[in-house]
Amino acid sequence: MGSSGNFFVGGNWKSNGSKDSVSKLVKDLNSSKFPSDVDVIVAPTFLHLPYVVDNIDPRYQVSAQNCWVGKAGAYTGEIAPEQLLDLGLQWVILGHSERRSLLKESNEFVGEKTANALAQGLKVIACIGETLEQRESDQIYDVLDGQLSGIADRIADWENVVVAYEPVWAIGTGKVATPDQAQEVHAYIRKWLSEKVSSKVAGATRIIYGGSVNDKNSAELAGKEDVDGFLVGGASLQAASFATICNAN
Ligand code: PGA
Repeated sequence: MGSSGNFFVGGNWKSNGSKDSVSKLVKDLNSSKFPSDVDVIVAPTFLHLPYVVDNIDPRYQVSAQNCWVGKAGAYTGEIAPEQLLDLGLQWVILGHSERRSLLKESNEFVGEKTANALAQGLKVIACIGETLEQRESDQIYDVLDGQLSGIADRIADWENVVVAYEPVWAIGTGKVATPDQAQEVHAYIRKWLSEKVSSKVAGATRIIYGGSVNDKNSAELAGKEDVDGFLVGGASLQAASFATICNAN
């Protein structure tokens, strides 16, 4: 832990789940154990949000996986932050690499969505991370600088932001970053926040790691100084694995 906040674990269910599988997962999560000073968040699809909000144990907080860049209105197919708050959600994941790459979301757009979500009262898990090509051609820190600036240029208050470092080459590939690789980048992000925002924000902001985290590798990663938690995809669909990760610190 390099942050003064609680250890933080998010479960990103992505576009997975049926009515049956979600109700089973919620039941299993409700009987899972983790320390009360760990913040645990689950992010189902929009369709499953009402069920999860109504049925999950209040030890969990609930997140959306995306939201609109403005207020509610004539924006076909979109869901605004105020509507997520109305349903009882506290969080939204923004800037996930799957949206950056598949839906061409730019650094600026992710920054605008972050500012809008915060202004309407949601907390944000803001995702950043480089591709393998960018890492291998030494562009990693330019890429991260651009992604961080997209956000930092548009928000003043970081209190309700968690930064998720998710190297694209590690997401869903089974190829996890080594604890040293994760630590090196997390330390860089904390230094960036200290220099470009403030040392107070750098000390308070949770910087979590995502990309092939599972019940076997989470403890070693959590042992690194600047790893303040995880954003978990595949392993968050198995309550037992997810519980082990929530106990990794
Ligand atoms: P993964 O996904 O754990 O399945 O690699 C992580 C994420 O995309 O948040």
